[in-house]
Amino acid sequence: MWDAVYDVIVVGAGHAGCEAALAAARMGCRTALFTINVDRIAEMSCNPAIGGVAKGTVVREIDALGGEMAKNIDETGIQFRILNRRKGPAVRSPRAQADKHAYRERMRKVIENTPNLDVIQQIVDDIIVEDGRVKGVVTHIGARYGAKAVVVTTGTFLRGKIFIGFNEFEGGRMWEPAANKLTEFYVRHGFRVGRLKTGTPVRIDGTTIDFSKMERQDGDEPPPFFSHWTEPREIEQIPCWLTYTTPETHRIIRENLHRSPMYGECKLISGVGVRYCPSIEDKIVKFPEKERHHVFVEPEGRNTVEFYPNGTSTSLPYDVQEKIIHSIPGLENAKIIRPAYAIEYDFVDPTHLYPTLETKIIKGLFNAGQINGTTGYEEAAGQGIVAGINAALYALGKDERFVLGRDEAYIGVMIDDLVNRGVREPYRLFTSRAEYRLLLRYDNADYRLAKYGYKFGLLTREQYERVKKKYETVKVFIEKLKEVKLKPQHVNSILEACGSTPLKETKSAYEILRRPEVPLDKLLELLPELQLDDERLLKEVLEEVEIEVKYEGYIKRQLEEVKKFRKLENVKIPEDFDYDTVPISTEERQKLKEMRPLTLGQAARLEGIRPASIPILAIYIEKWK
Ligand code: FAD
Repeated sequence: MWDAVYDVIVVGAGHAGCEAALAAARMGCRTALFTINVDRIAEMSCNPAIGGVAKGTVVREIDALGGEMAKNIDETGIQFRILNRRKGPAVRSPRAQADKHAYRERMRKVIENTPNLDVIQQIVDDIIVEDGRVKGVVTHIGARYGAKAVVVTTGTFLRGKIFIGFNEFEGGRMWEPAANKLTEFYVRHGFRVGRLKTGTPVRIDGTTIDFSKMERQDGDEPPPFFSHWTEPREIEQIPCWLTYTTPETHRIIRENLHRSPMYGECKLISGVGVRYCPSIEDKIVKFPEKERHHVFVEPEGRNTVEFYPNGTSTSLPYDVQEKIIHSIPGLENAKIIRPAYAIEYDFVDPTHLYPTLETKIIKGLFNAGQINGTTGYEEAAGQGIVAGINAALYALGKDERFVLGRDEAYIGVMIDDLVNRGVREPYRLFTSRAEYRLLLRYDNADYRLAKYGYKFGLLTREQYERVKKKYETVKVFIEKLKEVKLKPQHVNSILEACGSTPLKETKSAYEILRRPEVPLDKLLELLPELQLDDERLLKEVLEEVEIEVKYEGYIKRQLEEVKKFRKLENVKIPEDFDYDTVPISTEERQKLKEMRPLTLGQAARLEGIRPASIPILAIYIEKWK
């Protein structure tokens, strides 16, 4: 009856699918990864970059859990930077330009060389369900594959429709077919399905760009790699370039809006777009007062002439695309290699999911990535690893489930937002979405999450021991800073150089370091006690020490808030709990029955649940147990 049987099947080899499949296979599950085109595994559909504010922290979190994205970009990146270096640690984050071809090739190699993992190039058309449990999948050539768990990560491919002006054609991405059948499966089983849209700019031939009219942006030296396990090394970094739109660009767009599939006479696109990464015509319509917009001109790799003009995504017709590009300084004579386009696709309402990313309707079925209404490679990969771990736990028959809290990870914040609030527009991560962002920093992702990576067998004991050693050393160093007393005659010249008030009396190094204007590296020559043989570990430890000392007050306050948050979060709601016994409004009962929150905390965050109802619910849950 089956062509082959697996523990876990992952549908889609994008950023979510790769992490899900690797996690499941590495946890010992026989895993199959289905994709429409094996040459496009881990394809960067849009910008050739990984990371950015909040997103870079997600990449570090995936790495701390034992995922692949950070290592993949470290091996294939062509420019690395820390964004917001001069701002507070809560908003700092790494970002890298990728060689998108090398990125794809390396990920494919890793996947092909992972034991327990088969790659299958077929389109999944249907999912087989029996007695409310997933049983397997059926592909477009009629093959049937059995599985205990299925993770769906189909990105922008479900009934994908591409638009260039009023030209529209089916496709999951330019030059790749759409997956038109799988939506029917979701609709048939009662899932709510909606439409969203996104877009991408033209790609330009770099030999026709005049870089002398642009500002050059170089990477940081030494390159700040993403992975906690990447050894420092030198690489040749490639610059990016900055230019701007002009009044001429804006005039061209305004005069051609009637030819846009979004704004034009025949409005073809109904899906909602990404508010924070809008098309160039969206920006001109929504911010008419702005005289110019940034255009970052980014290389797509080491061995290609293609450049990506970040900020010029559009669905206007091709002749208008050419005019827009030629109106931008440095791009007057630029030749377009690939056209810009918009894409509209189906997503499945993520409120159908538990925070494990398992669907509430069908046991053993998980959704992750853009299918849940998110946008971005990092958001997809973050969901992918959580879904992969949970699918593996389910397939292995373990009772345990893996849920990350809002106080533990940006991935936790994102999934909590998705499953409790749903999406009305493509969901993207920002630091402002996290309540405890001073705790969820890129530098301490290993502290927060390596314990899970190790527990699920995705990190080695050696890796985990290194993390433990790092944070034990941080504690020891902070104690040493409290013990070391510095006299005015030793420290005042340093303080003066930092613009800090000189000491009148001896103070501990700890107290001095608390001053915002005094960096730890300036004090180090007076602190021979802060030494380690491992230079790299020392650097990481000192970064941690500095943040913990300087932001101690704020960190303590957030930890207090987390304690309150945890009180509700730790109250589990039994699966068979009867909401009809609780004296709250009918609407609230209906909402709770539909959403089936796992904890009291999750119940409190649902739209329409009044704060006054939570203590009542708590009493009834206690009685039920
Ligand atoms: P994808 O990376 O899309 O991967 C989906 C995978 O599923 C593919 O491997 C495909 O072959 C496979 N697949 C689909 N259906 C089936 C099936 N039935 N059977 C077997 N395999 C299947 N993000 C941003 O952050 N900013 C942007 O500006 C931006 N612009 C974009 C513009 C365009 C035109 C596109 C297409 C995407 C854009 N994105 C952007 C989104 C970004 O590409 C995605 O967020 C990210 O790639 C999602 O990852 P994913 O793993 O969910 O899906």
